[in-house]
Parts: sequence; structure tokens; C-alpha cells
Amino acid sequence: MAEPQRVVIVGSGLAGASAAGALRDRGYGGDLVVFGRERHRPYELPALSKDVLLGAADGPNRVHEPEFYEEVDLRLGVEITAVRLADHVVVDSTGAEHSYDRLVLATGSTPRALPVPGADLPGLHTLRTVEDSLALREKLVEGARVVVVGAGWIGCEVAAAARTRGAEVTVVDPVDVPLRRVLGPTVGGVFRELHEAHGVRWRLGVGVDGFTPDGVRLADGTEVAGDVVVLGVGAAPNTALAREAGLALADGGVAVDAALRASDPDVFAIGDIAAHDHPRYDGRVRVEHWANAKDQGVHVAGSVLGAAEPYQASPYFFSDQFELGMEYRGLADPENDRLVVRGSLERREFTAYWLRDGRLRAAMNVNQWDDGTALQALVDAHAAVSPDQLRTAAPGDLV
Ligand SMILES: Cc1cc2nc3c(=O)[nH]c(=O)nc-3n(C[C@H](O)[C@H](O)[C@H](O)COP(=O)(O)OP(=O)(O)OC[C@H]3O[C@@H](n4cnc5c(N)ncnc54)[C@H](O)[C@@H]3O)c2cc1C
Repeated sequence: MAEPQRVVIVGSGLAGASAAGALRDRGYGGDLVVFGRERHRPYELPALSKDVLLGAADGPNRVHEPEFYEEVDLRLGVEITAVRLADHVVVDSTGAEHSYDRLVLATGSTPRALPVPGADLPGLHTLRTVEDSLALREKLVEGARVVVVGAGWIGCEVAAAARTRGAEVTVVDPVDVPLRRVLGPTVGGVFRELHEAHGVRWRLGVGVDGFTPDGVRLADGTEVAGDVVVLGVGAAPNTALAREAGLALADGGVAVDAALRASDPDVFAIGDIAAHDHPRYDGRVRVEHWANAKDQGVHVAGSVLGAAEPYQASPYFFSDQFELGMEYRGLADPENDRLVVRGSLERREFTAYWLRDGRLRAAMNVNQWDDGTALQALVDAHAAVSPDQLRTAAPGDLV
């Protein structure tokens, strides 16, 4: 496959910017254009629900120093509205056409809305961009009544930041345990207790019926009064461009093969939107994680330049809430896989493992930082280990 003359990347988030960096690192010397709807030099999202909200950082980390963009044609404030595969052209919102030899789609996700009455009231916050984070931070003052809808990662992190800033915080979710979908009831319970210990109130097991100027109306007829309402009910991958172009979709994302190539051989998709045919897992993997955006961005550079290496990294993510820090590697089904814990759930210092058919599917270290490399190796290998071994041996002794 001949080296492309012109690579176009749509999306200036972590995945798109990492792809641009890796293309230059690999010595690609042709035209390289990155289109981004936002007007900011590419930045990373995790601090938006942590240090930026807490006031511990002025803004998020940037993916590259400004000088990097002397080598890249970064077009900020430009939205791409169509891709014409047959013509190898993308079209921006002014109607201007931009040709490509290879196209990388890295359009990320958009926070989901709740289809209930009052969802269009002003004062409802979502969290995706630096503007969202700064606008919310202004409202998180001592004594403010904050209602967080959604007990997932973003909801829990926002609750922790708001409470740390002295707000009165209530979190509402129809599930009975926060983070249950990813961690299951036992480990999710650790987060419930952590937040309770810091004075966060839970309204679990009940959904939201609507929003009012005074707060949130719940399905059981009760109301939670709030000055500030934050929606953290998940994000939808931005697949419209790909869908309208006629690219194959799968599992809610853009279908890509093991090397991150989409159904058109000159198009690739990475980051939140990529539904990846992962060689280590049955079926496709689509995750919304910082590491996935960064690593797929780096990997796709090789694919764009003609390599056909599979992307093999196991999913990895992290979270920080109050004094709890954790890392999770792999992909488990917490309702069906077997949970094994080494350490103390009560002290919030432990490693949780999930086993399926005697093989390790995922591991999560909480407030323990020495075992990352060993846990990564065990999860990558889907190691055959017994519950007893996991409970008693240090991860490094099992590799
Ligand atoms: C508040 C927050 C906290 C997070 N914290 C963590 C964490 O602690 N740990 C973790 O592992 N993960 C975390 N994540 C998830 C992680 O940051 C994302 O999975 C990752 O940033 C996805 O990167 P991306 O490049 O695919 O998408 P994005 O970062 O969403 O970037 C996509 C970019 O493309 C632009 N775009 C979209 N469509 C177009 C178009 N048509 N034309 C031009 N530009 C377009 C968008 O405006 C956006 O700037 C967090 C996410 C959020 C929102």
C-alpha cells in the first residue's frame, strides 16, 4: 500500500491528537489535517470531573505543546458535516470540501439527555467540554444544593468534587448500587459507603420523572430540591458522520477490524466511537476510556501508513473520588463472573478480580499502586488462576 499524501483526522480530542502525534513520530511527512469543532488546542477530559471541578487545576492537560501544531494543520472551530467515501472528500459546515487519501474518524461522544419533562430547563448541566466543567465549577459553592442524576463514573466523580467543595449533594439513580453495571453490587457498595462517609446522600432504586425549576421529581412522587442539577447518564458515541457516509456500524459504534480499519479501506475509527474487533475478546469491544483513546490514536498511525498489526491492548481506566484512587484492567461481566477480593473492602485497600471459567477477565486495584504491571500481564494473558491463589498471592508472584 503506497504511503498516503494527505491524511485527514476528524475530531481534535485525545484520540485524534494522539493519532496526529504518532503519524509524525513515525516519520510521516505528507499533509496532515486535524479538524476540531471546539476552539481549544486538543486536551484531555479526565481532569474536567476531578481537578478542574475541584479548583485544583485551572484547566485540563493538553495533548501536545503548542509547537507541535507547527507540523500539523490544526483547523479548530470547524465542524465536518459529511464524508463522501467515493470521492475521498470530507465537507465542512460552510460547504467547503477537503480531500484525503486516508481518513481517521475520532469524533468522541456526546452526553445523553433524559427524555423527561423539564429536560430543556436552563440550569441543567452536562459534562464533556472545558466550558461545561468551568460553568459547573462556578456553581459548586459551599451549601449549594446539588442533585446529580446518574451513579456512574461521571456522576460519582462530580458528586465527590461537589461535596469536597462544601455543596449538599444527592445522587439519584434507578440502580440500587452505584457503578453496579461495571463493578457489581459488592464492589459498587464500596463506593456507596465511601460517598456516604463524606456526607453524600443517595436516592437509589428510583428514576427521574422530570425536572422543575426547584429540582428533580422522582418516579415515586417525591422531589429532591436542588439549585444545581447535573446529568451524568452516559454518553452516546458520535457516529452520525460514519452512518450517513455508509460505513458499517456495530454495537453502537463504527465497526473497525483488528487494525482499526472501518468498512471502507481508506477510513479508520478510534477512541470512543470505535467498535473494535478485538483479538483478545469474543466479539467487539467499544469502551469510553482515556487510555483507549490515547493508545488507539498511537496504533492507528501504523495502520494508516500500511501496517496491519492488530490493536491488542486490554481496556484500562482509572477514577479518583475523595481519597479513593483506582485502576481497572480488562472487561468483566460483574453479574455473572466470579468476584475474588484480596485485601480489605472496609479499609478500601484491595484488589478485586473477576474470573470466568477459571480465567481472569478483569482486575481492579484500589488505593494500591505497586501491582499495575503484574495485573496488566495477568489480565492480558487471561491467566488461569484459582480464587485461592488470587486471594493469597501477590499479583507479581502469579505472573
Ligand atoms: C468529564 C470526563 C471525565 C473522564 N474521566 C475519565 C477517567 O478518569 N478515566 C478514563 O479512563 N476515562 C475518562 N473519561 C473518558 C475519556 O476521557 C474519553 O473516553 C476520551 O477522551 C475519548 O476520546 P476521543 O478522542 O474518542 O473523544 P473526545 O475526547 O470526545 O474528542 C472528540 C472531539 O471531536 C470533536 N468532534 C466531534 N464531531 C466532530 C465533527 N463532525 N467535526 C469536527 N470535530 C468533531 C468533538 O468536539 C471533540 O472535541 C472521561 C470523560 C469525561 C467526559
